[in-house]
Amino acid sequence: MNRLKKINTVIIGFIILLFSACVSTKPVAMNKIAFANNSVVAHRGAWKKNGFPENSIASLKHAIELNCTGSEFDVRMTADDSLVINHDPHYNNLEIEKTTYANLVKFKLTNGEKLPTLREYIKAGMENNNSTRLVCEIKPSEISKERGQIIATKVVQLFKELDAEQMVAFISFDYEILKKIRVLNPTVSTQYLEGNKSPEQLKADGISGLDCHFSVFKNHPEWIESAKNNNITLNAWTVNDAVDMDWLLANNFDFITTNEPELLLERIAQFKASYQDYKLVWSDEFDYSGLPDSTKWNYDIGGHGWGNNEKQFYLEKSIENSFVKAGKLHIVALKKPYKNSEYTSARLTTYKRFLMQYGKLEVMAKLPEGKGTWPAIWMLPETLRTKEEEWPLSGEIDIMEHVGKDPNVVHTSLHTELYNFWKKNQYTHFETLPDVFKEFHLYGIEWTSESIKFYIDNNLFYEATKGENGKDTTNEGWPFEKPYYLIINLAIGGNWGGEIDDSIFPSEMLIDYVRIYQKSSQNN
Ligand code: MG
Repeated sequence: MNRLKKINTVIIGFIILLFSACVSTKPVAMNKIAFANNSVVAHRGAWKKNGFPENSIASLKHAIELNCTGSEFDVRMTADDSLVINHDPHYNNLEIEKTTYANLVKFKLTNGEKLPTLREYIKAGMENNNSTRLVCEIKPSEISKERGQIIATKVVQLFKELDAEQMVAFISFDYEILKKIRVLNPTVSTQYLEGNKSPEQLKADGISGLDCHFSVFKNHPEWIESAKNNNITLNAWTVNDAVDMDWLLANNFDFITTNEPELLLERIAQFKASYQDYKLVWSDEFDYSGLPDSTKWNYDIGGHGWGNNEKQFYLEKSIENSFVKAGKLHIVALKKPYKNSEYTSARLTTYKRFLMQYGKLEVMAKLPEGKGTWPAIWMLPETLRTKEEEWPLSGEIDIMEHVGKDPNVVHTSLHTELYNFWKKNQYTHFETLPDVFKEFHLYGIEWTSESIKFYIDNNLFYEATKGENGKDTTNEGWPFEKPYYLIINLAIGGNWGGEIDDSIFPSEMLIDYVRIYQKSSQNN
């Protein structure tokens, strides 16, 4: 009995303790914060689609409605020390830093709203919102660095006063402003906008994020990895184009700042649907100049016709035939005699650089126009190079082939011992696209142990399935269960390329990027 009583006393005591702990907890001012699980930061709010003024409360409210993970706005200080929201240093031709709030507020925004103060803006941003960060850009003072420090102090104090510190991320082009914020509140998010400091430098100074123009990341692709390794958040601005959005999504950026939040939300939905569980394992964004990166690319060399009576000689490391410039790989065919050939060109491969078995592969490419051209994006297996197997037993995956004599007709095929173009029974599909010479298209495959799906611009173009219609499933019928390497080349003439129009040279294929994704269970 005594023992039971003792246990009861202990339990009751514990309950009382628990209860008093709960009661004494400081009441939470708002619902629990759960930032939206997307990377969309609406730049100056979500204004564009509805024609709201930038930096208006209407645009902030709409960013919250869209469930953006952040809504950005710009803070400046008036001559009489009021904090107001406006991007430009001027408002209605009045210099904000040299004009009183009373004189500025006489002018309405185009939607009839009053020029918002920071206090009004934060209050509006805290109403029914626990998922959209308030991304607060503190503009440097044009009067003095010291004034910038004063603005930073006042802004941080106001967020604290309004109990909004957990909702804010501070961004600035003024590094000293961010350092000041860090002193005032070491736990708040601070992101640097200028793009002239590496993630290591930011970390050393206690700045928590790198937030710069997306071109900075194309010039410093190594910063993406090092930011992740250093726990520095990644944000890119101002990204309004789907191709750039996709690149940032593929690189798993924390934030993407955009004037087109609706478009970015669509791209994210698309990305989630098609890249679920995939990780980028190999890529070349071609953000350098000169010869293709030799750690990623090899060359096939020679002018022997390549089994198709082709007319070009493929040269190694010939800067006029293969080079990277302004973000693109150029593969150029020239009418220029070399040994027994009348034309030179290039054939790049990832052999000995990257082999792939299963996963997604994407090549963003613009094709050359003109009779005699035969550009191809395709794959052959390692077993062919090691001479363990001969073609067509080895297998071949043709992601994209195009011959200039049939303009805009894009072909995709699989060749195997039993099903190949000699027998005219290969797995194949072709379609006419409207503009392969003018526009870049994304030519890709998704390859699993069961099928190879071919995509153009993320739309399914053709699917070949192991064993479909009673086809053989052994290596003779489906030799796609071993490592392959990628080939990108521009052939001239030959059995399929046909008659050559000599007026088309130089002729070039452009590649914007190559990306390979795999699931963690897939190896290469
Ligand atoms: Mg801004």
